[in-house]
Amino acid sequence: MRSQIKKPFIAANWKMNGKPSKALTLAIELTTGLSIEAIELVICAPFTHLDRLAPIKQTGVCIGAQNCHFAENGAYTGEVSASMLADLGCEYIIIGHSERRSLDSPESILPRIRQVLNAGMSVIYCCGEPLAQKESGQEWPYVSNQLQVDLESLSIDDLKKLVIAYEPIWAIGTGLTASPNQTQNMHLRIRNWAENKWNTQHAQQLRIIYGGSVKASNAADLSQMDDIDGFLVGGASLIPNEFRAIIQCYS
Ligand code: PEP
Repeated sequence: MRSQIKKPFIAANWKMNGKPSKALTLAIELTTGLSIEAIELVICAPFTHLDRLAPIKQTGVCIGAQNCHFAENGAYTGEVSASMLADLGCEYIIIGHSERRSLDSPESILPRIRQVLNAGMSVIYCCGEPLAQKESGQEWPYVSNQLQVDLESLSIDDLKKLVIAYEPIWAIGTGLTASPNQTQNMHLRIRNWAENKWNTQHAQQLRIIYGGSVKASNAADLSQMDDIDGFLVGGASLIPNEFRAIIQCYS
């Protein structure tokens, strides 16, 4: 049974789409009129859109970014720090998205998480296996190794500022989705891993969300599973009817 005090969590990942001038209108179309008190809803937009999105926070929707640099500040031309994003009103930053993992060094994930936490925000941490690992039945060894390396030195207090997004790479943007049972199985393993690592009951409150071609037609079945506490939604978060239907699975 899903814990009663754990709020479902839904995040939109707009990736590199849209224009700053249209961002607020889209955010309003995605969320207006829905009852969102029972869930935590975050729109993770490109850096350029974030300032324009600030008014949506008055409706209870949070704003978030899709990455930040691993250093606090300094000579990093073209980069954006966690504290700059906090100053813009961000409450969440996605770290470790597979589309970033192909660009950033694996060793930089933990320092990026640290920067987000130091700036007082929370982390949407992504993990998930490529197709080859899925086909050879090695999903869990692959994902547990990611968790081990990326979250290694985090404390229980840090854990309380973390949402884990399980996103099998083969499902992202492909139209393929992990089945509800497969996904539930991975989420439960992640939760058990967290419980063992930190030896804390808080692992039961940890939000473990699923991402990978979530849309209106598959969200309802996925949302029924005990350990699927919400979604990280890419493509469908740019389509108001789709995203609204996904939100309604939990609200
Ligand atoms: C994502 O970008 O995190 C994602 C899951 O994308 P999509 O929903 O388009 O597969």
